[in-house]
Amino acid sequence: MTKRILVCGAGGFIGSHLVKRLKAEGAWVRGVDLKLPRYESTEADDFAVGDLRQPDFVRSVVDQRFDEVYQLAADMGGAGFIFTGANDADIMHNSATINLNVLEALRKRNCSRVFYSSSACIYPQENQEDPDNPNCAESSAYPAHPDSEYGWEKLFSERLYLTYGRNHGFQVRIARYHNIFGELGSWNDGREKAPAAMCRKVAQSTDGDTIDVWGDGRQTRSFLHVSECLEGTIRLMRSDFTGPVNIGSEEMVTIDNLIDRVAAIAGKHINKNHIPGPTGVRGRNSDNRLIKEKLGWAPSTTLNDGLIKTYTWINAQVEKGRKDI
Ligand code: NAD
Repeated sequence: MTKRILVCGAGGFIGSHLVKRLKAEGAWVRGVDLKLPRYESTEADDFAVGDLRQPDFVRSVVDQRFDEVYQLAADMGGAGFIFTGANDADIMHNSATINLNVLEALRKRNCSRVFYSSSACIYPQENQEDPDNPNCAESSAYPAHPDSEYGWEKLFSERLYLTYGRNHGFQVRIARYHNIFGELGSWNDGREKAPAAMCRKVAQSTDGDTIDVWGDGRQTRSFLHVSECLEGTIRLMRSDFTGPVNIGSEEMVTIDNLIDRVAAIAGKHINKNHIPGPTGVRGRNSDNRLIKEKLGWAPSTTLNDGLIKTYTWINAQVEKGRKDI
């Protein structure tokens, strides 16, 4: 029988890719979001545009028993959105309200298999001060001390989903995503993350130009291409493991190295000007021991393969913008 699937946040970056992937598998998919996907039309069979902070709207989209529900909607963005403090109340209020509403509506319709996208931002700050040796093992989450309100909301919502598992018999699946990037993501609207921002800056530069980089460039991160994120998400959803589990890459690089890689892909020499800016923790890397143990799988696509695809797409957007002027 055709699976019926609900994707909340289907107008966003990961959600729009997920809809495409689920459609390719032959599922019937309803997408929900404040907005349609920005760069491509949606492949969802049905797409409800509306606000998941409104309980009536949420009840109206959960009007049947779905086989799988993926809850990715959140008020989120890159460091420029999460770490300045200016958006903290919105981040906490909006995302928590969405999760509270969605779970209640699912309970009333007896939809019990639900995936929740948490984040590496839940890990304690003090475990991520050494850029060469961050600790992001799942078991290190407590005692909790995330470096942002975004991380605290994710931690609260992880716990909320787990309570619905314990008290209402939900089959909850929780992933902690680590810096997901790829084509069709924010690249120029203030919510873009480091890989997209660097691809844009390099695409807009000519050979020998200098670009601004927040921080000293020695902070470390790992980045996972969206195709691998989807693979991990779907494998987790259909496994018997609740999580929370990291879905990320273990290929950790400095931000300076990320820029050098993008510049090499573009065939340009790019100089860096390090300026003060929101940077988050000094080091972060996925720890994939648990996902390997529980799912017998971990991401394997290299950072460079993902960057080539992403740079090619962002460069095409930049070129298109130039032609439109
Ligand atoms: P995104 O911002 O592109 O997608 C989130 C979507 O939620 C947006 O389309 C937005 O319009 C929608 N949304 C926000 N408020 C809403 C509301 N009130 N009603 C309906 N829709 C609403 O982000 P993304 O990168 O696709 O991330 C998806 C999920 O994964 C989020 O929960 C995010 O916190 C989590 N995550 C992402 C990353 C990453 O690196 N991209 C890392 C960790 C966790």
